Amino acid sequence: MISERDKARYPFTTESADYVKKLRIEVADLITEPYKPILKRAEERIRLALLKPDDLAPQEHDPSIEILSFPTSIMLMAYIDNENVKRRYAVAESKGFSKKLKTESLEKVIEIAQGTYYWNIKSKGQNLRETYEIFLHFIDYIKNIKNMNDLKWKLTNRYLKDGYVEITKNEATRLIEEEIQRKILKKTKNRKVEPPKALKEILETIKLITMEKTVFETFDTPSGIKVENMPPCIKKLFDSLSAGGRLSHLGRFTLTSFLVNTGATEEDVMNFFKSASDFDENKTKYQIEHISGRKGGKTKYKPPKCDTLKTHGLCFSPDEICNRIVHPLTYYRLKMKALKKK
Ligand code: SF4
Repeated sequence: MISERDKARYPFTTESADYVKKLRIEVADLITEPYKPILKRAEERIRLALLKPDDLAPQEHDPSIEILSFPTSIMLMAYIDNENVKRRYAVAESKGFSKKLKTESLEKVIEIAQGTYYWNIKSKGQNLRETYEIFLHFIDYIKNIKNMNDLKWKLTNRYLKDGYVEITKNEATRLIEEEIQRKILKKTKNRKVEPPKALKEILETIKLITMEKTVFETFDTPSGIKVENMPPCIKKLFDSLSAGGRLSHLGRFTLTSFLVNTGATEEDVMNFFKSASDFDENKTKYQIEHISGRKGGKTKYKPPKCDTLKTHGLCFSPDEICNRIVHPLTYYRLKMKALKKK
C-alpha cells in the first residue's frame, strides 16, 4: 500500500500521478496562493539537482507540496533548451530516489516496480539463492540494462530460469533508477511552444541556475586542469560525463588516465565521476587507484594513443593541433606551454 509519505518520497509513482491529476491545478494557479510554495519547491529541486545533487532529499513536512513539486519541476525543465542540463537533472532525481528506495523493504520495492512500471516479477520461490531476492522477467531486465557497462549486468552472466532473471533488492532499485531517468528525459523533451506567462519569471531564474557553477568549474579549480586545453576527444568525454552521460569502458579509461596524468588527484576524479548516471563508488575507486598506479601493478597508465582512439571511434573533431601530435597528452602539454609563454 502506497501511503501519503510514500507518495511524497516517490512522486514518480502511479499513485502520486493520480493524486496530482485529481487536484486539477492549472499552471496559472501556481503563482497564486496557496500554491506558490509548490513553485518555490520545484525551483529548489532543480537548483539542488543541478548544483548539489547529494542534498536532494524530500521535504516531508508537507507531502502535498513535495508530490506536486516533482511534476512541476519536470514541466519547467521541459522549457529549458539544454539537453545536458536536462540529463543532469534526470540523473540527480533518479539517483536520489534509488538511494531512498534502497532503505525500503523488499515488498515496497516490488510494489513500486509492479505498480508503476508493470514489472513482471515472480514471487520468491525455492530456487532463489540466498542473496538474491527477486525473479524479474528478462524483458523488463533487458530494457533497463542497456546503459550498464559493468559485466555483471550482462544476461549471460546472470542466473536465468524459465525466462526470469535472479536479482537482488539493490539491483532492482538500480533498474528502477533507469526507469525513472528515462521517464524524466522523455517528459522534459523540449516544448516547442512559448511558456505560459505565469512561468516566465521562474524560468528566467532556472536559466540563471543552469549558468551557475557547474561540475566543470568545481573540478577545474582544485587540480588546476584547464578544460579549454584538453584535446577535443577528452573534452567530449569530459562534457558527456559532466552532463550525467555514460562512457564506454575505453572512454572511462581514457578520461581517467588523462586526468591522473595531468595533475588531478584521485579524490578530484572520484568527485567528477559522481556525475555519471552509472556511478558505482567502489568500482570507480578501484579503477582510479589502479589506473593511477597506487594499487595493483603499481603502473601509472597513460591514455591510449590517437591511433587507438581513432580505431575505437573516440577521436572527435580533431583540430589543427591534432595534426601535429600522436598522443592526447602531447596536445595538452603543447597548449599548456603556449599558455605559460603568454
Ligand atoms: S587526434 Fe588525438 S588528440 Fe586529437 S581528438 Fe583525435 S584522438 Fe584526440
